[in-house]
Amino acid sequence: TQQSLNRDTIAAVATAPGRGGIGVIRLSGPKALSIAQQICGDKPLKARYAHYRNFFHSEQLIDQGLALFFPGPNSFTGEDVVELQGHGGPVILDQLLKATIELGARQARPGEFSERAFLNDKMDLTQAEAIADLIDAGSAQAARNAMRSLQGAFSDKIEDLVESLTHLRIYVEAAIDFPEEEIDFLADGKVAADIQALLAQMAGVEAQARQGAIMREGMRVAIAGRPNAGKSSLLNALAGRNTAIVTDIAGTTRDILREDIHIDGMPLQFADTAGLRDAPDKVEQIGIERAWEEIHQADRVLLVMDAEQLHSLDPAEAWPEFTNQLQDLDKLTLVLNKIDLSDYSAGLQAHTQGVPVIAISAKTGAGLEALKEHLKQSIGFSGAAEGTFSARRRHLEALERARAFIEQGSQQLHSHGAGELLAEDLRQAQQALGEITGAMSADELLGKIFGSFCIGK
Ligand code: GDP
Ligand code: ZN
Repeated sequence: TQQSLNRDTIAAVATAPGRGGIGVIRLSGPKALSIAQQICGDKPLKARYAHYRNFFHSEQLIDQGLALFFPGPNSFTGEDVVELQGHGGPVILDQLLKATIELGARQARPGEFSERAFLNDKMDLTQAEAIADLIDAGSAQAARNAMRSLQGAFSDKIEDLVESLTHLRIYVEAAIDFPEEEIDFLADGKVAADIQALLAQMAGVEAQARQGAIMREGMRVAIAGRPNAGKSSLLNALAGRNTAIVTDIAGTTRDILREDIHIDGMPLQFADTAGLRDAPDKVEQIGIERAWEEIHQADRVLLVMDAEQLHSLDPAEAWPEFTNQLQDLDKLTLVLNKIDLSDYSAGLQAHTQGVPVIAISAKTGAGLEALKEHLKQSIGFSGAAEGTFSARRRHLEALERARAFIEQGSQQLHSHGAGELLAEDLRQAQQALGEITGAMSADELLGKIFGSFCIGK
């Protein structure tokens, strides 16, 4: 896509801050080799050889270690790259880095090495992001997913989608170019069938990407309900310690309390929210507003209700205001709490109106295993999930946008036989997909993505 411009040479400490056996300075750019030669002495650094050298600057011996030279384009960034591997002390590394800068390099911005690799077509955006994910992985599963994305598992899926979409676009554009045949072209059922097939293909990729994003960022679970239903007790029981304040005074949890919990390697971010009721007090009202925000943003909402006070298992009857507010009932689970006081059996699982119901006691722990199992199932998590790859919310949003365009186009075709409008929607869908791999990304987006990487990457 983009040509390797005449860039400056960048340098950074590539190893983690602090002390360690080894510390690495990485250089990339046209002057990488000449700068390294000035530090390592005159004997030439051969490509892809490990040379044991003294590192000098201004006649001063700074350190000794290995120098490795990777000539472009067969390097990580696609440019000339040199690694100086010295001892991992902050003072030594700082002196080495300063030496490279005095010799003409510039301190790299966060993620700038990966950005160059992307700009030089060494990898696409999802792969560059996968490197960051691999480094940040909080679990073995998340690391495996990142590795799969890095190897192109996600990019391949997006490319398949783009290919299907391109076929469809060619067909539709051709139909528009031959107006006398347009009606036949568009009405022959092929386009409609292709659109349906494409939507099904997208739904598959979206589901995988959603699981990948959840494995990376954690599934967001909001614990909601009326005051005293046992929300804070549930959070404490899940966390296995007392973080949330439990009292029998209604309205105690006024702000959001968060807790990261792993269930069999699946990361979850629980949020204990303020009890939902008509609050007379201003402070409590603010807490309730925040609770609603949390509920809307969550991947899953656990609506905790006191089993003794429940008059119906149907959430729409049990709490009509709540189900009205929450349009998307797909992410709702009704949790019947305090079954130690009533005659529900622990772990009872039912569905009403498609909403799962699970009976627990936060006090005795009964039913908690069933609840955990349910949370895993709700996103199709299986401990050793094969075929998942790491993905980000940004990818999901782009996929959703692409799907919305295709659905809209399909509607245009269906109700108006409008080929032109369909063609435009398909073009926009492709644009959205292109943002995922970086085939069509605005500079601003790139800046945002690479800016969140750490330095030296
Ligand atoms: P929240 O306002 O929804 O966060 O509710 P809390 O967790 O603060 O609990 C309110 C009251 O209900 C406290 O006195 C808890 O001890 C009690 N409680 C919570 N869960 C259970 C349960 O499963 N069984 C019984 N018997 N009491 C519970
Ligand atoms: Zn509480």
